Amino acid sequence: MNAESIIETRSVCKNFGGFKALTDVSVKIRPGVLTSIIGPNGAGKSTYFNLLSGAFSPSSGQIFFMGRDITALKPHEFARVGIAKSFQITNLFPHFTALENVRIALQAHVSRYGLWRPRCDLEGLSERALDLLGVVGLRDRAARPARELAHGQQRALEIAVALAADPKILLMDEPTAGMSPEETKVMMDLIRKLVEQRTVVLVEHKMKMVMGISERLIVLHHGELIAEGTPDDIRANDLVKRVYLGH
Ligand code: ADP
Ligand code: MG
Repeated sequence: MNAESIIETRSVCKNFGGFKALTDVSVKIRPGVLTSIIGPNGAGKSTYFNLLSGAFSPSSGQIFFMGRDITALKPHEFARVGIAKSFQITNLFPHFTALENVRIALQAHVSRYGLWRPRCDLEGLSERALDLLGVVGLRDRAARPARELAHGQQRALEIAVALAADPKILLMDEPTAGMSPEETKVMMDLIRKLVEQRTVVLVEHKMKMVMGISERLIVLHHGELIAEGTPDDIRANDLVKRVYLGH
């Protein structure tokens, strides 16, 4: 058990055919810390995200969650140990209301754990769903169908859906992609709030956006880890300046 990391990759590689998308990436992500994985387009960020979320399995190397080797687990088992990802708009039921979307996710979570007691819990689930909508700033949109929400609000709703499983780690791939400056600000404030309760890992190519909110940064370039540290460390890193900032 390694108390200083909640999730860790040891020498993970991911090949697509003969192409090496990731080579020997060893990283420890600290609990309760907002960590961002950055790097230019094609650096391997989304591939790494998919390894952390269990969507891909590494070609070699290992993944540990709270000291346990989870490399061989199936994608849904990653979710079960407490790793959630947001930003798949496909997770939403467009015709259902915001409240229903979150309640369905809560229902799935409680029934998975055998906690489901239909008669007394329906109201409780609705209340909890409303609470989660409150966390993401959508309480006043509870009765609106998901498809009628603005883009930024749909993304906030996806976060509420992800939070329904009470994850220990929330992974987000480019959470502000396609957002207006106002929506981006709202999302960044929400991310700051989320990290008070859990570990948050962002994957982002917009360096400026993450520098302001991240406590730790991990920099990938051509599938390799080239730097790791605080925003100040990264700003001062010559290699990063060369391959990324000057890019
Ligand atoms: P990033 O998210 O940093 O932009 P990706 O992880 O999406 O980078 O991609 C890293 C490299 O791996 C790119 O060169 C990309 O073309 C390649 N790649 C990603 N996914 C696949 C795949 N499923 N099959 C083949 N090549 C892929
Ligand atoms: Mg990507």
